[in-house]
Amino acid sequence: MPNADLHSHSIVSDGQLTPSELMRRAHARGVTLMSLTDHDDVGGLDEARTVAAECGMAFVNGVEISVSWESVTLHLVGLRIDPRHPALTAGLRAIRDGRTQRARRIAAGLDRVGIEGSLEGAYAHAGNPNLIGRTHFARFLVDSGHASSLREVFRRFLTSGKPGHVEHQWAEFDQAMQWILASGGVPVLAHPGRYPIGDARMRTLLGIFKDLGGVGIEVMTGSHRPDQFTSFAAHARRYGLLASRGADFHGPNEGPYDLGELPPLPHDLKPVWHDWPEAREIGLAA
Ligand code: AMP
Ligand code: MN
Ligand code: MN
Ligand code: MN
Repeated sequence: MPNADLHSHSIVSDGQLTPSELMRRAHARGVTLMSLTDHDDVGGLDEARTVAAECGMAFVNGVEISVSWESVTLHLVGLRIDPRHPALTAGLRAIRDGRTQRARRIAAGLDRVGIEGSLEGAYAHAGNPNLIGRTHFARFLVDSGHASSLREVFRRFLTSGKPGHVEHQWAEFDQAMQWILASGGVPVLAHPGRYPIGDARMRTLLGIFKDLGGVGIEVMTGSHRPDQFTSFAAHARRYGLLASRGADFHGPNEGPYDLGELPPLPHDLKPVWHDWPEAREIGLAA
């Protein structure tokens, strides 16, 4: 089985490393099948692909798309997408524009509790002026001494009921699925264990995801607790979904797993890469 890491972030979204640094780190840690899945932007993929090839590491294009479903924000990972597909690029551009608007409202909320300059501060932490997110606000709030960790910032400032929290409308679920599928990509539901929904709504969600053309779910992800590795493996079996693995790496010393470090997928699950030429080329297909 390859050491696959199919969910990671660079400075093109809210990661800390450049796409080149990320690929070299993945290779050095033993990853053999890699993807870069920045939030709502594909601008790092050409660089990542070039450096992955230099390292002799298999690489597939990726993106993590922000979606609103009912009252819940979902993340869809699109793997093996065509980053130049017009519907996909237009959709992602609209999401990034929405992020820019949202950032002003987040900053206004922080202003009201006496935290000034957060918009400029967040942009100073963003590697890509067209992709602003809560992580950039969080890094500013830690740097300026308002909290001691990203986790604390989210809890005290950026989540529901807190001063920097704003409601936001992301892409429509069915449209984002269409962008991925139209561009030739494989839709994977990211870190399903992170959504604040109970069992019944999770079953509804997985059913809708499949009906919309969904193919895989993340089972082994840095966003799951170990008990969720087991429960979402069971969901993959029950719904006939392929399984994916990725650390959701954002940077050294952030998050519980480094690149390539998660436990392997359970052997009876069919991996999302089982029929990929990228995996077969280097003798890695299941
Ligand atoms: P956004 O898409 O701009 O709303 O930001 C979401 C990002 O914030 C996620 O992709 C994570 O990188 C980060 N994030 C969310 N919750 C937390 C948390 N509790 N601690 C640290 N980072 C978080
Ligand atoms: Mn992130
Ligand atoms: Mn995510
Ligand atoms: Mn992610």
